[in-house]
Amino acid sequence: MADHSMDTFQFVVVGGGIAGVTCVEQLSSDFPSARVALITAASHIKAVTNFKQVFQTLEKFDVEERPSSALQEKFPNVTVIQSAVGGLCADTHTLQTEDGRSVGYDKLCICSGARPKLLTQNQPYVLGVRDTDSVQELQKRLSSAKRIVVVGNGGIALELVFEVGGCEVVWVVKDKAIGNTFFDAGAAHFLIPSLEAQRPARDAVCKRARYTTEEAPDGDLHTFTASGSLRRQGSGPTDTGSALGPDWHEGFLLRGAEQTSQGVRVEYECGVKEIFTSSDHLRPPPESDYGSWPVYVQLTNGKTVGCDFIVSATGVVPNTDAFLPGNDFALAVDGGLRVDEHMMTSEPDVYAAGDVCTAGWEPSPLWQQMRLWTQARQMGWYAGRCMAACVLTQPIELDFCFELFSHITKFFNYKVVILGKFNAQGLGADHELLVRCTKGHEYVKVVLREGKMVGAVLIGETDLEETFENLILNQMDLTPYKDELLNPNIDIEDYFD
Ligand code: FAD
Repeated sequence: MADHSMDTFQFVVVGGGIAGVTCVEQLSSDFPSARVALITAASHIKAVTNFKQVFQTLEKFDVEERPSSALQEKFPNVTVIQSAVGGLCADTHTLQTEDGRSVGYDKLCICSGARPKLLTQNQPYVLGVRDTDSVQELQKRLSSAKRIVVVGNGGIALELVFEVGGCEVVWVVKDKAIGNTFFDAGAAHFLIPSLEAQRPARDAVCKRARYTTEEAPDGDLHTFTASGSLRRQGSGPTDTGSALGPDWHEGFLLRGAEQTSQGVRVEYECGVKEIFTSSDHLRPPPESDYGSWPVYVQLTNGKTVGCDFIVSATGVVPNTDAFLPGNDFALAVDGGLRVDEHMMTSEPDVYAAGDVCTAGWEPSPLWQQMRLWTQARQMGWYAGRCMAACVLTQPIELDFCFELFSHITKFFNYKVVILGKFNAQGLGADHELLVRCTKGHEYVKVVLREGKMVGAVLIGETDLEETFENLILNQMDLTPYKDELLNPNIDIEDYFD
């Protein structure tokens, strides 16, 4: 029921994803008796579990979806308001929720995440992947699909093409190599055989309890609970569920209509020119695989591919719409709320963290923002600390976690660790690469600048991450050791001990 009275809190955080929840937890532990509100559109929140600081900057954790009541039980000073925020008046420090409440704040942190940047809006054959709902929709549509087109070359596309079985996948990438967001052509070359190999059959049930399960309303099979988003058809731009995270596909069997794996065909260096159905009047000239399909994709390389549906995995757009009208936020070119080194936006007392924000400070030469789970946690935690420091009028310096970019993940069943300027980002010609590759086993790449290690890609069980993290952080001159650095017969850990 709508409540039109105004309720005011010392701290208000918007968004129950990993950034928002971590921010609330941090504020609650600093101020156990302060009134803190979490306003979130979803009924479930994301919680970090099994957090492990692997080395100095590398961290690992699992993520669980929990009912929002779990947060209130853990922190009695927290009030969770389940509603989408419809508007913000930064001048009066007031938020309006879509269910009619006015919520006042002393300090606000916006953690509303991002949504898939879809190839085209309102096209029923184009799906995005963001939250549990959208993966369920994908799973449902896949079950009767014989061919799908995946467009995009980032982490989600990489995981998807590997996980989908029982249907042909045409993978459209704009680059010369797959996985360009994380890898260079050498690493892509190392990974390609995994796409061609028979992929292992997967369990239908998540091995680790990351997402809660619940009985379907019809008492039928167990289904994964929706992340509580205000569900609409597909994963359109107005969906407000939390983003999935590491191992998001483990709980979902992504199988097409065919019994056997149908392989992945990669269309390099091209994009989508047109999407049309057979009933559309616009029809390009027929091509070889122009058979009868629900939808067709005309590519910029001139080919036309028929398929059952298209997965658009071409990046994300920060969820800022509800907060902009009537306010004066500085936005970054990617549409994110620009934040300074204290996670503050350009509006007084308004902070932002996670996918919705863009780091506007002068970054360390070894760090860059990527909209990843790890950074959402780090930013939410650091924003909470900055809000607390401001209230206590204490100085605070940019946290050490923003010193070096580091990320652990899994692609094509290989452990992947990426560090610093792993793709020589921004280095121009001013760098040198060292590579060691054992087919089917490991791929190691080191980026050196002026003899110092500034980035690395480690694929497989290389056991090099700790040593390389140290070498990048301490910026030791490696010129005398260059020839030995990737020598597999040398125990590099001992070498630099
Ligand atoms: P979100 O998790 O998106 O949370 C946003 C929250 O804000 C939600 O609770 C939403 O309900 C709420 N909200 C939005 N708008 C409003 C509003 N107007 N009012 C109230 N509440 C609102 N990262 C990795 O590091 N590793 C991976 O392997 C990985 N895989 C991924 C796979 C997929 C399919 C996707 C989609 C993302 C993946 N990511 C991965 C990225 C990672 O999930 C995100 O970077 C991270 O979850 C962002 O967290 P967040 O808290 O900023 O936003």
